[in-house]
Amino acid sequence: MLDRPLTPPDAPTLDERALARALSGAHFIDGAFVPAGSGRSFAVHNPATGEEIGRAADGDGTDVATAVESAATAQRAWAKLPARKRGALVAKCGALISAHAEELARLIALETGKALRTESRVEANVVADIFEFFGGLGSELKGESVPFAPDTLSVTVREPLGVVGAIIPWNVPMLLMALKIAPALVAGNTVVVKSAEEAPLAVLRVCELMNRVLPPGTFNMLSGFGPECGAPLVAHPKVRKVTFTGSVEVGRIVYQTAAAKIIPVTLELGGKSPMIVFADCDFEKTVMGAITSMRFTRQGQSCTAASRIYVERPIFDRFVAALAAKVDAMVMGDPLDEKTDIGTIISAGQFEKVRGFIEEGRATKGATALACSRLPEDAALRKGLFIQPHIFTGLPDDSRLVREEIFGPVTTVFPFDDAESVLAAANDSEYGLAASVWTNDLKRGLSLAHRIEAGLVQINQNLVVQANLSYGGVKSSGLGKEASLEAMLEHFTHKKTIMVNYG
Ligand code: ADP
Ligand code: MG
Repeated sequence: MLDRPLTPPDAPTLDERALARALSGAHFIDGAFVPAGSGRSFAVHNPATGEEIGRAADGDGTDVATAVESAATAQRAWAKLPARKRGALVAKCGALISAHAEELARLIALETGKALRTESRVEANVVADIFEFFGGLGSELKGESVPFAPDTLSVTVREPLGVVGAIIPWNVPMLLMALKIAPALVAGNTVVVKSAEEAPLAVLRVCELMNRVLPPGTFNMLSGFGPECGAPLVAHPKVRKVTFTGSVEVGRIVYQTAAAKIIPVTLELGGKSPMIVFADCDFEKTVMGAITSMRFTRQGQSCTAASRIYVERPIFDRFVAALAAKVDAMVMGDPLDEKTDIGTIISAGQFEKVRGFIEEGRATKGATALACSRLPEDAALRKGLFIQPHIFTGLPDDSRLVREEIFGPVTTVFPFDDAESVLAAANDSEYGLAASVWTNDLKRGLSLAHRIEAGLVQINQNLVVQANLSYGGVKSSGLGKEASLEAMLEHFTHKKTIMVNYG
């Protein structure tokens, strides 16, 4: 049972540790913090120190049933509100999140080990932006009139799907939750979210903020483990749509369960995104672009991380040296310290997995590893899950480091000689999430952009998810789009046809 009252402060707080404790041990169901039905909870750790910073309710099928019932009841009234009114309320959540952005940034840094200045603050602000963006789209839930025959009026209307089950991972949990919740709600659905077991606290604060604006039950949040809490959410008969971000392996399980129920799914899965650099690129900008593309400040824990960098041979050596020098100058340290560029890996399990890849790369004949930056020396961070960024060259095409998603600060760099061969290499992957091309020859850049198998291709930049731009992969990277008007219309509504014969 809970050993402390659940009273997170109303006003924004900069005491992230007290906030983590105050958010501990509860789901958020029907507008209130409630402990797990079983009374069980599990520990949440600060990956920079190993300390326990709070606890999370350990959800199971019983909690899922309570949350889904709450969402199903709330959905009837929520769907009756005018769409623009729903949008206005969602936008208001965005404003509240914006007012609490610094607090949320500190909490997510504590919980995930992502550096405050380079990552956590960015996430908190993008979350507010996503709510505000979708909040403005209520009046876009339009249908069409369809010519059919004289004396008939045939129209389509957009209707919500019902209760949406949303399952999120730990790398950018608030942002990925926002991409799911905000459009689902504006479209008239209600939501039950299952948070990631590694990062259940900051998302809970977002729920509590939303609850100040939205009716109870319109969104609910459960914490817990995948098979025990995520699986019953997907399987629940009243969940009429599932939106999932996570691994390919679990994505397949989710898809199979959804298939048995014949419900739609959105799947945002992994990536092994190529970055293609031509010799005529703007060299300095592209080196910096490789750092952003590889998400080194997020320890490479991004589905879109440029973990395969192809560089035209004449500038290959110079590019690798410049990239390594820049990464080397980045500061690893306490995620909450403003000086820190790079924080920690999320969990001991991921830490071991990433280290395994690095050891395998180092042991590969012909491969060279450049380990950059320095592990922090601060005694308080001795148990922190820090891993030096690694840049590998000379790996064979069939290396696991080239084919599998590492989700760590490890990139691989290869020389290439012509556009056709680099295109073939870029497309030789089970994934197809994102890609970037760096060249001052726009004709060549655009030609490649059209032929790369990916959901998102950027030329001379590699930004993270942006409101208004559809985001989502092809091949094993997933199904469906997020972040855009299209995402809301196609993935959170269905189109009903209504015909009137007035002859
Ligand atoms: P990761 O490699 O980050 O753990 P996962 O795909 O395992 O990626 O996890 C992403 C999300 O999916 C998490 O919230 C996790 O709890 C959830 N999850 C894991 N297994 C299942 C499952 N069998 N059914 C539903 N959700 C699951
Ligand atoms: Mg997992």
